[in-house]
Formats: sequence, C-alpha cells, structure tokens
Amino acid sequence: KKIVIVGGVAGGATAAARLRRLDETSKIVMFEKGEHISFANCGLPYYIGETITDREKLLVQTVEGMSNKFKLDIRNLSEVIDINRNNNTVTVKDLRTGEQYEEGYDQLVLSPGARPIVPPIPGLKEANAIFTLRNIPDTDRIKSYVDHKNPKRAVIVGGGFIGLEMAENLYERGLYVTIIEMADQVMAPLDYEMASIIHTHLKDKGINLILSDGVKSFEDEGKKVVTQIGKEIETDMIILSIGVRPENELAVRAGLNVGERGGIQVNEYLQTSDPTIYAIGDVIEVKDYINEQPTMIPLAWPANRQGRIVADNIYGKNVRYNGTLGSSIAKVLDYTVATTGNNEKTLKRLGIPYQVVHLHPGSHAGYYPGASPIALKLIFDKETGKIYGAQAVGKDGVDKRIDVIATAIKGNLSVMDLVDIELAYAPPYSSAKDPVNMAGYVAT
Ligand code: FAD
Repeated sequence: KKIVIVGGVAGGATAAARLRRLDETSKIVMFEKGEHISFANCGLPYYIGETITDREKLLVQTVEGMSNKFKLDIRNLSEVIDINRNNNTVTVKDLRTGEQYEEGYDQLVLSPGARPIVPPIPGLKEANAIFTLRNIPDTDRIKSYVDHKNPKRAVIVGGGFIGLEMAENLYERGLYVTIIEMADQVMAPLDYEMASIIHTHLKDKGINLILSDGVKSFEDEGKKVVTQIGKEIETDMIILSIGVRPENELAVRAGLNVGERGGIQVNEYLQTSDPTIYAIGDVIEVKDYINEQPTMIPLAWPANRQGRIVADNIYGKNVRYNGTLGSSIAKVLDYTVATTGNNEKTLKRLGIPYQVVHLHPGSHAGYYPGASPIALKLIFDKETGKIYGAQAVGKDGVDKRIDVIATAIKGNLSVMDLVDIELAYAPPYSSAKDPVNMAGYVAT
C-alpha cells in the first residue's frame, strides 16, 4: 500500500508518524513545498520576541531525522501541483530543479494548511517592511529586520491571536506598537465585554489600539499607514495578521467539494468527496461541536487529532471526528485569554436561546499571596443545563478553568454537574470551591 501526504507540518507529520506506527510495510511519501517539516508554528512569535532564543528548538523534526526514525520518504521543497484522480497520481514540482514528475498513491492525505490573507490594499506592493507570519522563512525575515534595522514602531493589522502575539513580542523588543482592528474588539472568540478587559490592558501598557477602523492605504513605501477614517500612523514595519485562507487550490482543481468559505468538505471519517482522498487541518471545513454548523477553525489541536484519526481510518479503524469545540488560549502581556465552545455572538446569530453568568473568583485562595481575579463567563441552556461555552480572562489560572470546562463539555456534563467536579485544592492553586464549581453554583 502506498500513502501520499501533502503538507509536512502539523497535520501531515502527525499522520505520517501514526501511519508508520500502525503499519511497518506501507510506502509513505510526504511532500512539503517549504524547506522545513514539522516546525513549531505556534512558537514563531516567541522566537521573534526572544523568549525562545534557540532557533533550532523551533525545528521539531528534521527531514533526515524524521525519515530515519519513521522510515518515511520525505521530500521537502517539493510542491504537489495537481491531483490526477483518473489515474491516482499527483504531479509534483521539485522546487530545487524545476523538474516535474508524477507519483502514484493508493490513498492521499491533504494537509496543506491555510495561508495569511493579503488583501489588495493600495500601496501594499510598494511597502518595504511589510510581513506576514506563517513559517520559518517569514520568521527569519521579521526577526532579521527587527535585529538589524532597529525599527522603533510597528503597525499590526488585525487583532486576532497571531496579531496580539506579535504585538506582545514586538512590544517586548521595545517597539511602539499600534494595532488596527476593523471590528469593535480584538480576539473574535471572546464576547465584547470580555475583550474589553484586554483593550484596557493593551492601552495601559502603552499599545496604541485602534478599533472599528481598517487600513485604507499604505503610503511612503510603507512608512505611513492611513486608516479608513483618515488616521495617519507613521511606522517602521507592518505585520498583516487579518486571518487565514485555506490552501484549497489543489482540491478545487481536482473537483473535490469545498464549502462556502473554501474549506474542503469531509465526512466524519475525514474523507473528501473522493473516498481515496482524505483532508485534515486548517484546510478543511469542520462541524462546530456545539451548534453543528459547518465552520473553519484553524488551530493546532484539531490538526493533530485529525492527523491521527486519518491514519487510523486508512487502516480501517473507523474512528469518527466529532467536530471542533474551538478551545483556544493566548497570552496577551500580563493576561491570559482562553475560550471554549460558542460565544454569545454565535448563539445570537444562530437564534439559539441561552443564559449567561459572569463571575470574578480569585485564581486561588485570597489569603495566599499572588491571587488575582479571573473574569469568567459561562454560557448555557437554561432548561437542560447544557454548556455552550466559556470564556476567561485573567492573570493566573485561566488555562486550567477553561480546560476543565472544555473537558466537561466533551464529557456531556451540564452546568449542574460543574458543582460536583471534585478538583484539586491547596491555597497556592485554588479555593475549596474552585472557580469552575462557583460557576456551577451561580448558574443553578
Ligand atoms: P500547516 O501546519 O500550516 O502545514 C501545512 C504545510 O503544507 C505547510 O508547511 C505548507 O508549506 C505545505 N503545503 C501547502 N500546500 C502544499 C503543496 N501543494 N505541496 C506541498 N506542500 C504544501 N494554533 C494553536 O492551536 N495555538 C497556537 O498558539 C497557534 N499559534 C500559531 C502561531 C502562528 C504564527 C501560526 C502561523 C499558527 C499558529 N497556530 C496556532 C495555528 C496552527 O499552527 C495551525 O492550525 C496548524 O499548523 C494547522 O496544521 P496544518 O497541517 O493544517 O497546516
């Protein structure tokens, strides 16, 4: 049996390793158009900010190391440019030589990810120091610019996860940072009142936060950013972080079904509309775990989980992917922001009735030093107690509470059950009634 994988980072590399563990004899070929495979995408902003100082640590696996360890045929700098479904082959372009060839497959796994959106903003092409961040070469470009050109000011376009992580890391490098966000809030998975805690924090730190305004043009070769309402911001560098778009071109050309937002459609076994072709990761449309609507959730947990499931299914295990909850977390300077499940905005849009409770428990016992409040929001169905989602913002203990609630959701626990989760307690860590228990008490 021969399995071909397109994309050698989160989803692709996970699938390859699991496939080999399940079967020692299959031929497994993994194509990656970039130079690096299996690198730590999520660590890239922290290398630019110099919290991570060793570049090698970002390279989780090398082509040679992973090929030997798992007996894989890994070809980097090799772009799959076509899928030929009539004869079960892919056309590959060797980016070193420009040569093209065909490679046959019995089963094909697509994990090409998603790329940063770059809208045609006037002046973009003429701008010198404008960057997007997806991979190691992007990271090297940004870091080298910060290291050698001594920029004093940066404009971040887009206040999502990557935008805020870059804002933090450039701030840590001593730059004066402006964030421009079209919506009235940063961090779309949060509801407005939760995001506003972060708005205040960013401003307190001296970050220039511009909300409800977008970029109209870049002027003076990118030295000036002009916004829709006419603000002018002088800058030495620009980061575009306004979201990602699925790399669906191969799939579209091959006639595979894609959804409204371009995500490849798959069934619960992660098969595309061609049953010999599977797709995983940022490129697919997933079912929202809470509301069951199709959505796109480009995060590392789903890509890794799907990578493993796809390998299991290729070996006949029939494992289902039940949808994505969208649990996510980010560090924003002194704060941590985390969410799981649906927010109010989504439930409202879908017309799903819900109840909300807000509470502000301490991260641990108040009499033990270092406790700080957590703003915790729990959203649920009043009748059944079904938990729809939770959001938390605070300086400490946020990750644990959201992870417990995410676990509760996956375990089908209701808000009534939250009071009964017996959690570990000692004063440095929690209270005898943990914030998650408290949320249950307040909700019921
Ligand atoms: P990727 O990991 O992007 O891999 C796809 C690979 O396929 C790419 O290397 C690409 O070059 C290759 N490829 C594409 N087309 C072809 C082709 N035709 N031929 C050959 N190769 C091809 N998620 C989190 O959950 N938490 C985080 O903290 C977090 N931080 C992030 C920070 C940054 C800066 C970035 C960029 C992403 C972050 N993510 C985070 C998102 C996470 O990295 C992605 O969800 C995950 O990597 C998706 O996996 P994937 O396999 O679908 O795509």
